[in-house]
Amino acid sequence: MAEENNEQKPRDNSQRRRYPRYRRPHNKPTEVPADEAATPETTHVDTTLETPVTPEPQSVQRQQQQHPQQQSQSQAQPPAAQRLEYSVVIPLYNEEESLRDLTEQLKVVLTRLGGRYEIIYIDDGSTDNSFRVLRDLHFKNKRIKVIRFRRNYGKSAALMVGFQKAQGEFVITLDADLQDDPAEIPNLVKQIRAGFDVVSGWKKKRHDPITKIIPSKFFNFVTSLATGIKIHDFNCGLKAYRKDVVKSVNVYGELHRYIPALAHWQGFRIGEVPVQHRARKFGKSKFGGGRLFKGGLDLLTVLFTTRYMTRPLHFFGVWGILSALAGFILDAYLSVEWMLGRTALSNRPLFVVGLILIIVGVQFVSLGLLGEMITKGQNTEKEYSIREVLK
Ligand code: UDP
Ligand code: MG
Repeated sequence: MAEENNEQKPRDNSQRRRYPRYRRPHNKPTEVPADEAATPETTHVDTTLETPVTPEPQSVQRQQQQHPQQQSQSQAQPPAAQRLEYSVVIPLYNEEESLRDLTEQLKVVLTRLGGRYEIIYIDDGSTDNSFRVLRDLHFKNKRIKVIRFRRNYGKSAALMVGFQKAQGEFVITLDADLQDDPAEIPNLVKQIRAGFDVVSGWKKKRHDPITKIIPSKFFNFVTSLATGIKIHDFNCGLKAYRKDVVKSVNVYGELHRYIPALAHWQGFRIGEVPVQHRARKFGKSKFGGGRLFKGGLDLLTVLFTTRYMTRPLHFFGVWGILSALAGFILDAYLSVEWMLGRTALSNRPLFVVGLILIIVGVQFVSLGLLGEMITKGQNTEKEYSIREVLK
């Protein structure tokens, strides 16, 4: 299935000194040792608390490391003094008890990291006091921005709106329930600076109920197999992205579980770092038992909108031809038997099975051809992810 060339090369940017070793996804996981290093258009936003972030003193700015990509695009970029380095995007739904603690922990980590930052909370229609707490935090600290949905749209929608608002060069996402440790952020950022486009956390030692760990293991196994990306934990809330990535992935429905796959498909380099995970202290998990089933359907969506989007016949054609061929062989065998007088077809249900296989096979091939016709009629230009244009 994964006949694409998965090998990902580092950017040919001479200013970057060190690349992390990225192994072929099929051979080895992309783990980087920790020590080494609802659709948005229809989303109703109720209240937005936003204030421009006041520039940091010069001394802080000088400590900032300029990213090679920023250097190459420096003409189009604002001057360093105004540039925002980190955007932390946090989707939340009824997490009132965790928000103050989380903000404090984030402030400590981000201040230590240096560089200007913003924290964007997306209140996904909370029915508890979450928004009141956030409003309070916003009034105390203008780097904290809050977007409030009018109703609960889901984590993907919240992330997508956060991604649209984020202005930092590095975008970090984490869950609001304190299960993700903000102290891991510098490690993730380090890997992005070293050349990855997306670095996903890997909850190596999970602190969740077993009823969640087992389905999650299964989900990760299947997703890794189907997408060809060998990471262990697709659904970790803690991730870091280069800005380009969040501006070009389209996350809707419940596709947040597949962001690494969507990004990988656009040619972005995906890395993984083991991270500390903590047990949920307050509130309860917002995702119920249906997640595995929905996740499975979403995997189909991801495969079809990425891998087979531009060549539907490759999927339908293969299965269609296999099915028709199996039916043909079966029926040919039975026909020969019948001609030799060894069997009567009227009492061989297998003959009907063979016929069904042929019919289904032909239908699959036709479906693939129809898909090809639709794809050809569309403007496929927007399906290609362009990194740079030199004019
Ligand atoms: N979340 C959200 N909208 C939802 C469900 C969840 O914004 O409809 C947030 C939630 O508040 C948390 C994150 O997504 O910050 C992860 O949710 P949760 O902790 O329930 O997931 P789990 O850790 O159980 O996978
Ligand atoms: Mg959680």
